[in-house]
Amino acid sequence: MSDVKTDILVIGSGIAGLMYALKVADTATVALVTKKEAMESNTNLAQGGIASVFGGTDTFDLHIEDTLASGDGLCNRDVVERVVKEGPGRITELMQMGVQFNLRRQKEGETAGPTDFDLGREGGHCRNRIVHAHDMTGREVERVLLERVRNHPNITLYENHMGVDLITQSTRLRRGHVTTTHEDFCCGAYVLERSTRRVMTFAAKITFLATGGAGKVYLYTSNPDIATGDGIAMAYRAGATVANLEFVQFHPTCLYHLAAKNFLISEAVRGEGGVLINEAGHAFMADYDPQKDLACRDKVARAIDTELKKSGADSVFLDITHKNPDFVKERFPGIYAKCLSFGIDITRQPIPVVPAAHYMCGGVVTDIHGRTDVHHLFAVGETACTGLHGANRLASNSLLEALVYADAAARQSLEDLRAENFPPLMELPAWDDVGTTDSDEMIMVNHNWDEIRRMMWNYVGIVRSDKRLERAWRRIEAIQKEIRDYYWNFKVVPDLIELRNLAVVAELIIKCAQHRKESRGLHYTLEYPRRDDRRWLKDTVLRRPFVG
Ligand SMILES: Cc1cc2nc3c(=O)[nH]c(=O)nc-3n(C[C@H](O)[C@H](O)[C@H](O)COP(=O)(O)OP(=O)(O)OC[C@H]3O[C@@H](n4cnc5c(N)ncnc54)[C@H](O)[C@@H]3O)c2cc1C
Repeated sequence: MSDVKTDILVIGSGIAGLMYALKVADTATVALVTKKEAMESNTNLAQGGIASVFGGTDTFDLHIEDTLASGDGLCNRDVVERVVKEGPGRITELMQMGVQFNLRRQKEGETAGPTDFDLGREGGHCRNRIVHAHDMTGREVERVLLERVRNHPNITLYENHMGVDLITQSTRLRRGHVTTTHEDFCCGAYVLERSTRRVMTFAAKITFLATGGAGKVYLYTSNPDIATGDGIAMAYRAGATVANLEFVQFHPTCLYHLAAKNFLISEAVRGEGGVLINEAGHAFMADYDPQKDLACRDKVARAIDTELKKSGADSVFLDITHKNPDFVKERFPGIYAKCLSFGIDITRQPIPVVPAAHYMCGGVVTDIHGRTDVHHLFAVGETACTGLHGANRLASNSLLEALVYADAAARQSLEDLRAENFPPLMELPAWDDVGTTDSDEMIMVNHNWDEIRRMMWNYVGIVRSDKRLERAWRRIEAIQKEIRDYYWNFKVVPDLIELRNLAVVAELIIKCAQHRKESRGLHYTLEYPRRDDRRWLKDTVLRRPFVG
């Protein structure tokens, strides 16, 4: 018997999940589950803003060309064109919903029009085109969307509920063991209610995965704790195709301070004139790229990695002290306050920074409507791989992608539900944990969490090699076996669920990285330091072998 029956199950409460839920809820019933408090998401931490073309000397063609250049040959041009062209409409819509973006300062006597945005600039963009709400854009978007979701009569929000596994038509339940056929469809999910530790059954006609990224698979990350790649792992286990997981974006500038867990120093700081210097005070980016501090993220991250390895220093520094202090405080109030709380006055001192895992360009493969190849399963946002980012995401294109695809997926979902032959809600088998006990070996979970993250940082990080990837592969195989043995004997708890997912995502990243024998975009490997279009101008595609 199912615990919850709904037209649409949304998993995740970042920009993708919230926006989609709002767009379908006037017509369909929606259950929205999210594994912690609803605000906890990558979205909530997004600082820089949303890239889009709003006049001046900017054009759609320029934004398209910048996106394609960043993607290093692997973007899908049709997808890029569509996302870029829909940008202004989606941002205007956000504004109409109540999101307050910064407007351009006006000359005396002028009044700003509603879309006279104060456009920021970030690396890889040839024009100022980042619409932002100070340096807390994501928080502002999340605030408005969440408030609307909480007030919508057709949406039931389940906080502290964690998706464990998707349920497909061919799911045969042996304490959650999932087996799939190639012509499968999704009919809901098993969800852990954290307070009671009970696994509930959610039956849904359509399931929408919006679980965000997987930064926690690396030791150093800008991502919050929720980013454990759950959606990618769940979809892969359910038989969906995933792709391009070797392309992990490392943000060049995370605050380096022992007490700061994962605080990002936005690229917009460099956009406003911030300069990277090493311990000796040398502005080193000129030695690496003609675009200097505004080069693409992968180039900046690799340059910092090289500087750190050369000098043995703990960090490099980002210097914006030459700018007017009042301007810095007004443009970056969040960064200014946070750094000051650690004793760093950014108007007077350079900021110590290091690179950290930031964004997952690969993910669950979807079509132009956000559909995966498991029927009735959609994936949107950082969990998805749409073809927009190719081998490297252009800064501030991800919130944009989530908005455009949430809209497309909502339209497609409503059309699907209207179809006469759409399957009705299924009765689903309850979660079966007969024979399992409470864990007496949580040390295995903690140990493997740490080991995966350190191993991925050391062997599958910014610079890779055949030998390091081979070592990583051997380790992840052994860890996977331990987790499998453990998983089926004990009752599931959040840390174990996340560990199981982290291990799957780590394995997929390693597999993709081993497969690609060239360097392109975010994947850089010592044995094959050049891009090889003849052999590798294609996505790395993986699908779980059919299990009968
Ligand atoms: C520090 C930082 C700054 C950034 N700045 C920018 C920027 O300026 N511009 C830009 O375009 N992009 C930026 N990004 C990237 C961007 O924020 C993300 O790609 C985007 O917000 C992803 O949105 P999402 O809805 O896909 O996922 P998220 O916003 O991460 O939301 C995922 C949701 O899924 C939930 N969830 C996860 N697993 C489960 C599960 N098993 N069960 C239930 N719920 C689950 C989470 O709790 C969360 O609610 C930034 C990212 C970071 C970390």
